[in-house]
Amino acid sequence: MKCGLCEIVERKQDIVYEDETLVAVALESASTIGQISVFPKQHFTILEMVPPPVLEKCAVLANKVGVAAFEALGVQGTNLLIRNGLGSGQAVPHFSIEIIPRTENDGLPLSWDPQPAPEDELEVTLALFKEELKNLKEVKQEEKQSEKQGEKQSEKQTEGESSPSRKDNYLLKSLRRVP
Ligand SMILES: [Zn+2]
Repeated sequence: MKCGLCEIVERKQDIVYEDETLVAVALESASTIGQISVFPKQHFTILEMVPPPVLEKCAVLANKVGVAAFEALGVQGTNLLIRNGLGSGQAVPHFSIEIIPRTENDGLPLSWDPQPAPEDELEVTLALFKEELKNLKEVKQEEKQSEKQGEKQSEKQTEGESSPSRKDNYLLKSLRRVP
């Protein structure tokens, strides 16, 4: 069975913009009038699965839709929302960016009171993030090196995990978030 967004693409329903890769659609149920959903025609469940060139196109189109909302609707601002994976409120398993036009006092409850974080918890969280992001940098360098060095890289014993297994592991972890 096709997902709701794939069906929209197939039926060419409520589409305000379309090219080879992407569509921009005015969904029937929206948080504000003029809310537009930008998504790839191809079915990608979550952000982590969207190839970077497609993601880049999504971001550029989301920006253009935002500009259109300023020009056509005279809105005062936009919220760009990505509900990504379980726990985020993602209802349809197809990656999308929502462009939500905003005006002052429109009553849309998208704000929250920032909660103070316990200092030790914050320290642990920051350390975990730094570790993860450091690994990401290493993976990129490894990929670049292996591109340059070709076979040499595979002969050489790399410390810890090699970049492909790290990548696989990351995708495996991502699957746990699939709605
Ligand atoms: Zn889909």
